[in-house]
Amino acid sequence: MDDPHPSMSISLRHPTERVCERCGRTERWNADTDSWQVAADAVGSVYCIHEWDINGSFVPFEKPEE
Ligand SMILES: [Zn+2]
Repeated sequence: MDDPHPSMSISLRHPTERVCERCGRTERWNADTDSWQVAADAVGSVYCIHEWDINGSFVPFEKPEE
């Protein structure tokens, strides 16, 4: 396997883990399926309107000053 894009590089586009501030649900980014997967040990509440903690710190692109 000669992968030019090792899994570490995914952090450039996505946070690799996110936690709900309301119910504690934890999800991890699965690069293979391009989707979030729920951590088995922190499923949280299915009725929760999840408030992910990544909004403040995750900036996919730098916005130019206007
Ligand atoms: Zn939640």
